[in-house]
Amino acid sequence: MEVIEKTDLMQQKAEELRLAGKVLGFVPTMGFFHEGHLELMRVARKHCDVVIISLFVNPMQFGPKEDLAAYPRDLQGDLAKAQQAGVDIAFVPAVDQMYPKGFESRVSVEKVTKHLCGLSRPTHFDGVTTVVAKLFNITKPHLAVFGQKDYQQLAVISRMVKDLNMDLQILGVPTYREPDGLAMSSRNSYLNSEERKSALCLKKSMDLAQDRVAKGETRAAAIKKAIEELIGSYPHTQIDYVSLSDPVTLDDVDTLTGETLLALAVRVGKTRLIDNCILGKGEKR
Ligand code: AMP
Repeated sequence: MEVIEKTDLMQQKAEELRLAGKVLGFVPTMGFFHEGHLELMRVARKHCDVVIISLFVNPMQFGPKEDLAAYPRDLQGDLAKAQQAGVDIAFVPAVDQMYPKGFESRVSVEKVTKHLCGLSRPTHFDGVTTVVAKLFNITKPHLAVFGQKDYQQLAVISRMVKDLNMDLQILGVPTYREPDGLAMSSRNSYLNSEERKSALCLKKSMDLAQDRVAKGETRAAAIKKAIEELIGSYPHTQIDYVSLSDPVTLDDVDTLTGETLLALAVRVGKTRLIDNCILGKGEKR
């Protein structure tokens, strides 16, 4: 596996590979790999000739009071895992490679960013779309792979790619979970053993909602109330949002008529966890 640190070298390499007729797959990450990340790399491996990952903890997507400095990192461990997963190139830029002196541009998606995590993290998605647009320009992929775990991120990026005619395909991969159902996340490493137990409230909430919907419940308010009560019964939890919305626009729904996104953000201790599932016909979890 080749490790590239400089943006111009990465761009040059990607161009050479394209000219040689290779299909390039790309997985952007912030590192501290778990099986969820590795699954995205394996999916890219299946679809593409060359798999490129990026490892970059992007300061622009962290708010001033968020966990940028404390974000878990393990570069050597990550590179070993990526190689095992069949990655060909790891792009590992320093901050000044991505944001050199004088940088002042921003990619912004208007509406789909304003719901869910956008409410409590108002600058987050501009940071995501800006860095992902830059990474697409640097790594020139035909296919980019994202996790459905970060559902809104996937919706925002899909919107950006469509709106800006970016010439690549976006693929979403189902959420990879621990055996008890907790969605894998780099932030799970912050949880102590009691909090780890309470973290299960997200998956239990989704199970409860699936069950209510299977029994014919269509009132969003009733489903939300049941979830809020359930989460409230777990110690150390504080709800950021429980949302039932349209899976594409993320606009709130009052009555479930077709596939509906259930998205959750819950603080467990100091750790903010998110999860989601699609309720209704053709449901995926
Ligand atoms: P991150 O390093 O947290 O920015 O995540 C990098 C990519 O991995 C994103 O596309 C995430 O959606 C994806 N990802 C994170 N956790 C999971 C998971 N449990 N299952 C599948 N994909 C995931």
